[in-house]
Amino acid sequence: MKYYAKPLNKLINELSKLQGIGNKTAQRLAFNILAMEDKEALAIAQAIIDAKTNMKYCSVCGNLTDTDPCAICSDPGRDQSVICVVESPKEVAAMERIREFKGLYHVLNGAISPLEGIGPEDINLKSLIKRLQENDDVHEIILATNPNIEGEATAMYIARLIKPSGITVSRIAHGIPVGGDLEYTDEVTLSKAMEGRRNL
Ligand SMILES: [Zn+2]
Repeated sequence: MKYYAKPLNKLINELSKLQGIGNKTAQRLAFNILAMEDKEALAIAQAIIDAKTNMKYCSVCGNLTDTDPCAICSDPGRDQSVICVVESPKEVAAMERIREFKGLYHVLNGAISPLEGIGPEDINLKSLIKRLQENDDVHEIILATNPNIEGEATAMYIARLIKPSGITVSRIAHGIPVGGDLEYTDEVTLSKAMEGRRNL
């Protein structure tokens, strides 16, 4: 990377730290940014700063939010009796797009993966148990973790943990391809998967 002047090299370096951005793409993005109007490039920089400064995890559900509790947790119109458990905030967005689920969420911000050394205590699970202990309204937990090894292991673990309490625990159906990402699932498939959920 000695072909470019220092500031450009630095920009390429920083951009290539982003997940999925290789050096070639980082170069293309850097040239793109340099070709922009000053105010457009500054708006990107400012958006990064604003998001990093203002976004936090909801203390109730673990979703990414700029208010605490998040807009969903503090919405009295949501069905307080159902909690849909997902792995990441991206899946909350995917669920919200299908506009069928009116309950609450719990975001694990991860999945159990013995291979990677990620155990139940490494994900946002304790707060789910606390939510259930402090709140008698909840009568169903829908486990909408991804249909891959980690997602299934996580669902099984949570099901075993919660079932003794008498709360109904269901798992979304597999309209979603095994190994697939909930985030990229089309709306019809996701909607069918919710409909066809089964008790665990
Ligand atoms: Zn929340």
